[in-house]
Amino acid sequence: MSNKEIAKLFKITASLLELHDENPFKIRAYSGAVFSIEKMEQDIGSLQPQELEKVEGLGKSIAGKIAEIQENGSFAELDKLLNETPKGVVQMLKIKGIGPKKVKTIWKEAGIETVEGLSVACEENKIAKIKGFGEKTQQTILENIVFLLQQEGRFFYAEIEPLALEIQKELEKTTLTFSLSGQARRFLETEELLQFLVASDDSLAVFALFDNLSFLQKTEKECSPNAWRGKALQSGIKVEIKICSPAQFGSKLILDSSGEGHLEKVVAENQTLAQYFRKHHFSNEKEAYLSLGMPVFLPELREGLIEFKNENEVSQFSNPELIRYQDLKGTLHNHTKYSDGENTLLEMAQKCLEMGLQYFGIADHSKSAQYANGLYEKDVLRQHAEIEELNKQLAPFKILKGIESDILGDGSLDYEQDILKSFDYVVASVHSGLGMDETRANARLVKAIENPYTTILGHPTGRLLLRRQGYPIDHRKIIDACVANGVVIEINASPYRLDLDWRWIPYALEKGAMLSINPDAHDLEGLHDMYYGTLVARKGGLTIKNCLNAMGLKELETYLNKIRS
Ligand SMILES: [Zn+2]
Ligand SMILES: [Zn+2]
Repeated sequence: MSNKEIAKLFKITASLLELHDENPFKIRAYSGAVFSIEKMEQDIGSLQPQELEKVEGLGKSIAGKIAEIQENGSFAELDKLLNETPKGVVQMLKIKGIGPKKVKTIWKEAGIETVEGLSVACEENKIAKIKGFGEKTQQTILENIVFLLQQEGRFFYAEIEPLALEIQKELEKTTLTFSLSGQARRFLETEELLQFLVASDDSLAVFALFDNLSFLQKTEKECSPNAWRGKALQSGIKVEIKICSPAQFGSKLILDSSGEGHLEKVVAENQTLAQYFRKHHFSNEKEAYLSLGMPVFLPELREGLIEFKNENEVSQFSNPELIRYQDLKGTLHNHTKYSDGENTLLEMAQKCLEMGLQYFGIADHSKSAQYANGLYEKDVLRQHAEIEELNKQLAPFKILKGIESDILGDGSLDYEQDILKSFDYVVASVHSGLGMDETRANARLVKAIENPYTTILGHPTGRLLLRRQGYPIDHRKIIDACVANGVVIEINASPYRLDLDWRWIPYALEKGAMLSINPDAHDLEGLHDMYYGTLVARKGGLTIKNCLNAMGLKELETYLNKIRS
């Protein structure tokens, strides 16, 4: 084990001892050892036990632990501490900005044993209220949880994509055949690695190319003759460049970039797709699939979710009319300065015009969402007057009067009927009481869906990717209720939400649901997030026909009138 890894084990030991109120001298011995090891220039593995004891700050006892670590990868005292502590609490010790003392309070006093639970408690403003914490600490904890989970190796697609484009640009300068590969090629919402596949018989030349890119850093010990591995300097995103012979490029690309569900499909002679392509090599994907009598599936559909569902439909999913970003004609769930947005109505509308959209739907927060400066009745009236004025100037472009109404604890909406009636549409969303059990969360949502004023169900689970799982719902029940009540289901397109999860889109479509790709934009830049929404919508098989905001203005207005009457 390297010095760094050994230091890490002692560091966690010191934290755990503090968490369990152990003897301060013991804690100091481990902290001191961490300090000494971090500044040691020699490799610990190269020292004899007697030499180790003499290193300043180590001593006989620590030298003994190091021997244990070299032998077993850990040592008895640490193992015992880990046994006595819930896994989630150990993970909390890695959150920056809180030390063992605070973690102890969170665990023992607030009874929270997982990082997810801690994240939810922060969202619900419970941590700020604990003595010695406060709003600021709570915010820091939340931010650092995101950081921690990223550290644990996953990134948002939106963070991966720019790096992918940068690498692609470098490869385009060469004559090499290459492709984006791995999870990013099929637009997975979070990913742990950015992969490319390059066809070449000269892997040294490909290595040289990547060694020289200033924004990447090679991790020498993880490389193998046919795989350059490293990370992006700025973001820490792991990068893997695989090299294969041109004759295998097509089959290898399918193997490296498809989901398990796709690769497990039984295709020929009792073989799975994966087994078949490991045996039979093809230089391009078209030949590879053709050899099985299959169409060339779009990369984003290779999940085993819908592409094989109906043999007759197979061809439809090789060349389907899946929704594209440029098919969107407007946007429906957005915020302005009236609530917690950064821009004015006019600024947002002008940006939509620039984007070639026909309408801009406003859905600021409702009055119960006071943390987000939600609109009181008088603010709604003021906003409507401003919209009517602007619409005179902007016609035929139109600003639509919507609202994001909080779904209250009992499932009711946030305003009286006379106000609800005044909107063109209502996005109903849950923002509080996220800790409900599934039965209560379902009942609450169904009641909101049954409300005659609800037009769109906003971010159905409230999840925040890499940060919060979202409240538990029975997706089938909720989707069924939306279909029965003519309520549109939102695909919240924020790259940090992507909620409804794309894995539920096929079920929604099967039931005849209408979906809307909503950016939930809080500034001009945010409007662009619809792009990420279309990527995941494609994975679920969404076509123009079932996408509310692929409708032009006239068609949309007719539709909204119909479902409200
Ligand atoms: Zn919301
Ligand atoms: Zn919103």
